[in-house]
Amino acid sequence: MSYSYNHGSILVLSGPSGAGKSTIINKASSEIGDYYFSISTTTREPRDGEMDGVEYHFVTKQEFEEDIRAGNFLEYALVHNNYYGTSMKPVKDALSCGKLVIFDIDIQGHRLVRNKMGDITTSVFITPPSLNELELRLVARSSDSLETIKTRLSNAKEEIKAIGEYDFIIINDEVGTASLEFISIANASRLKMNKEELQNLISLWQN
Ligand code: ADP
Ligand code: 5GP
Repeated sequence: MSYSYNHGSILVLSGPSGAGKSTIINKASSEIGDYYFSISTTTREPRDGEMDGVEYHFVTKQEFEEDIRAGNFLEYALVHNNYYGTSMKPVKDALSCGKLVIFDIDIQGHRLVRNKMGDITTSVFITPPSLNELELRLVARSSDSLETIKTRLSNAKEEIKAIGEYDFIIINDEVGTASLEFISIANASRLKMNKEELQNLISLWQN
């Protein structure tokens, strides 16, 4: 009898804002099979072109805090003075359908997900080649004010200190190369199994 791999896995992407996480996912998306991208909830203002329910669910601080009290988040954190969080239900639904669930979350979120679901989690930290290059990309993206860019750059200096907590590092210098690296990691991340699945596999050998 062959074993059916009908379980879900998690792939966490972190890295400074402007590192190229969205660019890489978009470029790789047709090459990584069926996956569910977790749409976070945030209290930050939408950028030009961002739509509610597409990049994020945009809510007020009061709405976010109601969700915290109701226990609706798998994880949440304060990032750059705004709340960001991952709702539990859609993630559980996607996992139970055996999907790869991809999170774009910060280093605090990564720690929480690893604590709760470490056995099925793979993580990757994406960074541009230097802080200087990050600044150039944030300015070129022209989606944030100079003040916001400053906050993001000083945050990046802190975030990079957590790089050793991740399974893999992608240095996003040339986007084509970075996307190929991401595709390899995403495909391998599906092969993680939780304890129950390992136990099932072991018991198949016992008859
Ligand atoms: P993140 O999702 O991590 O915040 P984005 O994907 O929005 O970052 O990328 C930030 C900016 O940098 C965008 O304008 C994007 O087009 C650009 N960018 C991404 N990767 C590269 C790269 N390898 N070289 C040059 N510019 C890039
Ligand atoms: P941005 O405002 O540039 O979209 O995102 C800012 C930061 O918030 C990024 O580091 C991103 O990974 C992180 N982030 C986005 N969604 C979540 C989330 O649901 N939880 C956590 N912990 N961080 C998030």
